[in-house]
Amino acid sequence: MGNVTWLADALRAEGLRTIEHDGWRTRGHGAFRDIRGVMAHHTAGGTPNDWRVVLEGRPDLPGPLSNLVLEKDGTFRVIAAGVCWHAGRGNWPGWPANNANFHVLGIEAVSSGRPDSQGRYDWTVEQLDAYARGCAVLVVQAGFPVRNVVGHKEYSAEGKIDPAGFDMDVFRAEVGRIVERIRAGIPASDQSVFPLPSGYYFGPLDGPDESISGQHPSEWPLWRAGLRHWQESVGVPVTGAWDEATAVAARAVQQANGWEPTGLIGPGTWAAGLREGLPAQPAPMPPVPAPTLPEPPAPPDGAALPAGWRRFLERGWRSLRDAPRWVLDRMGRR
Ligand SMILES: [Zn+2]
Repeated sequence: MGNVTWLADALRAEGLRTIEHDGWRTRGHGAFRDIRGVMAHHTAGGTPNDWRVVLEGRPDLPGPLSNLVLEKDGTFRVIAAGVCWHAGRGNWPGWPANNANFHVLGIEAVSSGRPDSQGRYDWTVEQLDAYARGCAVLVVQAGFPVRNVVGHKEYSAEGKIDPAGFDMDVFRAEVGRIVERIRAGIPASDQSVFPLPSGYYFGPLDGPDESISGQHPSEWPLWRAGLRHWQESVGVPVTGAWDEATAVAARAVQQANGWEPTGLIGPGTWAAGLREGLPAQPAPMPPVPAPTLPEPPAPPDGAALPAGWRRFLERGWRSLRDAPRWVLDRMGRR
């Protein structure tokens, strides 16, 4: 298998920014036996100099400590094409126990790994976007399954928490979506591509896991950006959340296409909205003038009324306006 000397070219082909550190093609603790996956980490530093530790190592552990470093602005630093010390002890199905380094690529993403007082982590949107796209590039290039995009915290038997703040199932769903896009030859810049993984849709917060409302912290932040694009395209307030105005717009698009008006935005409603915008409102109907009907003659006495008028009054109708059409027809008044 050897060294993964294709790293920089493959990332650049996806449109990701890369910095190649001199000697990366030959740097490493030996050659890979094979490539079975990628492990996602955070540096636990969060500074612009985190990459130096990854390249040079620590007093107790010589570098390189990871193949790639992902900066906060979404730039990948290409550190090493050979084996790196990053996995430690742990297990993952299909990987040798406690010996993943010779089979698994490593990405160290720059983050303190600590939430602020409101529970938010220091990940940037650019970084998360690049993280998922970078992993998708590795999946496509090395040919391992998306289920082998693994968080250190999922593999580790040493209590690792990285990457902190990530729901790895959501992350893998997003990686899988990007893998499909790359395999279809569609560039990341193509905003007409449905921005959610297969089986997901934009819908209410209280829906199932696949219902993306733009309002839950576990949702991938780039999905919200996708919804904003759709809202802008159809001309509803750009909130990034599946709200009432968005649902109304989705129903209008669905009705215009003869689809069930659910208000949920899946791939079809997504594409139709971008393609056609909102359907033109039907012209308002001219107001229908109220029928002018003569009042019935005032009955002098019940007994004097013709039979038809008696029944008319017995039903509680006080004028022809109260009578249904069939009565008027029968009375010859239409
Ligand atoms: Zn780690």
